[in-house]
Amino acid sequence: MPILEYHCQACDHRFEVIVHGTQQPVCPACHSSRLQRLLSVFAVAGKHAETPSPGPCRTCGDPRGPGACALDGAGG
Ligand SMILES: [Zn+2]
Repeated sequence: MPILEYHCQACDHRFEVIVHGTQQPVCPACHSSRLQRLLSVFAVAGKHAETPSPGPCRTCGDPRGPGACALDGAGG
């Protein structure tokens, strides 16, 4: 189940909620439905992770170079 983070525009409360399907969450503090969805930690996690190593193969970082691995140079 996805845990989403919301910011209540009514009372400036910030909270996390488990969303079931398309259920519309409400603020647990003031029960307002004027919520702004924030980026989940999962979505942000991969973005600022360590930069990909400047290896020869950009696809998988195979030290043998481009075309040496199955993922790169396979003709698409
Ligand atoms: Zn609120």
